[in-house]
Amino acid sequence: MLVLGIETSCDETGVALFDTEQGLLAHALYSQIDMHADYGGVVPELASRDHVRKLLPLCDQVLAAAGRTRRDIEGIAYTAGPGLVGALMVGGAVAHALGLALDVPVLGVHHMEGHLLAPMLEERPPAFPFVALLVSGGHTQLVRVDGIGQYQMLGESVDDAAGEAFDKTAKMLGLDYPGGPRVAALAEKGRAGRYRFPRPMTDRPGLDFSFSGLKTYTLNTVNEASAAGTLDEQTRADIALAFESAVVDTLVIKCRRALEATGCKRLVMAGGVSANKRLRAALEGMAEKLAATVFYARPEFCTDNGAMIAYAGAQRLLAGQRDGNRIVTVPRWPMDTLPPIHQPRST
Ligand code: ATP
Ligand code: FE
Ligand code: MG
Repeated sequence: MLVLGIETSCDETGVALFDTEQGLLAHALYSQIDMHADYGGVVPELASRDHVRKLLPLCDQVLAAAGRTRRDIEGIAYTAGPGLVGALMVGGAVAHALGLALDVPVLGVHHMEGHLLAPMLEERPPAFPFVALLVSGGHTQLVRVDGIGQYQMLGESVDDAAGEAFDKTAKMLGLDYPGGPRVAALAEKGRAGRYRFPRPMTDRPGLDFSFSGLKTYTLNTVNEASAAGTLDEQTRADIALAFESAVVDTLVIKCRRALEATGCKRLVMAGGVSANKRLRAALEGMAEKLAATVFYARPEFCTDNGAMIAYAGAQRLLAGQRDGNRIVTVPRWPMDTLPPIHQPRST
């Protein structure tokens, strides 16, 4: 089944073609980051309008890249939520219009399920069951995954998401959005040991996270250095490293607990922050001691993209799930309410 995937939940227009027999055929992404930069954040109405401009040209671009035409499409998947409602509406409207015109089934997909399944697009995909660490701009969650749609929430952030903490820290250090990669690059020049930031909620049992206190700690450190006249490039790098180390350590501690609690030997990391090199290395080091394996997607499939939506949608379309004649947008949508697809279980 040849599935067109459409992602428009926020400020990135992503399109991909996934074939359930041949795999990923083509994908393209247009980022609106430059357009929103002047406003210091994503402006929802501008985001929707830009998706309108970019979406169909991107669809034609991936079809051409794959050597296919619209007539070859056998199913369409789009992000139905969570996300900005106007932006979601554009993807949903285009998906349903194309579906009607081509007479093919259409399905709204959960954005975080897309992130979660993105590592399945890689050469060595994880088998079920596994523990998933979802770390993105809006989510920090630990999930036990027994199959597609079989999700048990083990823990999540009670306040800011990990990616959000990276973005806010970037702002404090005078870096642009998205802050994650920029903080990580600055941290490369940092000296370990000058600052030590707290590891929130690691001193008590449980698998929940909190990152807002860490953000305040960073702000106070920046302000103190600024007042003392010592906020030079080296100090900023030292702060970036201290912040990144605190986030990484915290995530590693909780992932280890989740692996021990579930007895799972596979850990999947997904979402934008899973592109972080220090986090990848630290999780791999921890997993090695537990004889567990870590799985993740290539960096461009960690952040928002159409390929993950095409993949997740293809699995569900193949299982017979579809929308009916209704555009679905769900701005807030808990992932553990999704229906399962039953698959053979391996250990
Ligand atoms: P959600 O998926 O929760 O709706 P989102 O779609 O905005 O939110 P993603 O696109 O998955 O989030 O990821 C973007 C986030 O990932 C940003 O917060 C960004 O700073 C962060 N990020 C990207 N690369 C890195 C990196 N190398 N290190 C740390 N953070 C990173
Ligand atoms: Fe995302
Ligand atoms: Mg994004």
